[in-house]
Amino acid sequence: MKAFLDHIRSETPNIFTFWFKPEREPSYTAGQYIEMHLPHPNHDERGEKRWFTLSSSPSDLPLISITTKFATKQSSTFKTALRALNPGDVVDISSPMGDFVLPKDPSIPLVFVAGGIGITPFHSIIKFLNDVKEKRDIQFIYGVHSTEEQVFDELLKVYGPKQYSVIYQDPPAGWEGETGNLSGQRILDLIGEIGNKLIYVSGPEQMVETLHKELGELGVPKSQLVGDYFPNYSSI
Ligand SMILES: Cc1cc2nc3c(=O)[nH]c(=O)nc-3n(C[C@H](O)[C@H](O)[C@H](O)COP(=O)(O)OP(=O)(O)OC[C@H]3O[C@@H](n4cnc5c(N)ncnc54)[C@H](O)[C@@H]3O)c2cc1C
Repeated sequence: MKAFLDHIRSETPNIFTFWFKPEREPSYTAGQYIEMHLPHPNHDERGEKRWFTLSSSPSDLPLISITTKFATKQSSTFKTALRALNPGDVVDISSPMGDFVLPKDPSIPLVFVAGGIGITPFHSIIKFLNDVKEKRDIQFIYGVHSTEEQVFDELLKVYGPKQYSVIYQDPPAGWEGETGNLSGQRILDLIGEIGNKLIYVSGPEQMVETLHKELGELGVPKSQLVGDYFPNYSSI
């Protein structure tokens, strides 16, 4: 279906949220994604279509949003065309899909692990929970390069998950918290007892695969791991 650009919000110098008004209100669950088709001339080999998680919550309808990061060096022709859109310009989007969504049972404790721009589905989910005033048992771990790439901090503080741990690869001056890279062991050290917790991991494809493998080797059953993979990003 067609979706018209409503406005663009700058989250950081290289991360932007694009708000669209679809021609029909899509029905979706927080955490789902769409495929976007953006025709543009002389496209590179990556083509004219991309998958994007809806960073918005169903409670934001009739608007929907995607949030994406722009490369500091060479952007794809798709991202260059996306950045050049003006309000009223049109893209084509698929119906929302995917199962990176909250479990139906609200009593299941949750661990959300975001690597960089992989925070988008968690933003959708937490914005939804905040809007419908539903408290869930959430431990949130956010591995991010630096404060320049850190987004949605305000919403996270407003919602107040049980635990909110930020791990900077390049920490700001005076930071006394966690630094370095995400790893399976690190996640387990931060969250304590596993019990029946569901561990959701979202971020660059290789990071999600590595963390799932490490968590599996550390004894976390596959049934307690959920993943959302973003291709084409080499690092968080
Ligand atoms: C289910 C799902 C959900 C997703 N959700 C999101 C989301 O919410 N937000 C999001 O940002 N992404 C999301 N993605 C990933 C998204 O679809 C893109 O793959 C990603 O944004 C990279 O975009 P890009 O290929 O346009 O590259 P860019 O973002 O432009 O660049 C990424 C890297 O590739 C390099 N590069 C760019 N063009 C080329 C080229 N032609 N040849 C070689 N190197 C190049 C850049 O220099 C940079 O290092 C999701 C993917 C899936 C499958």
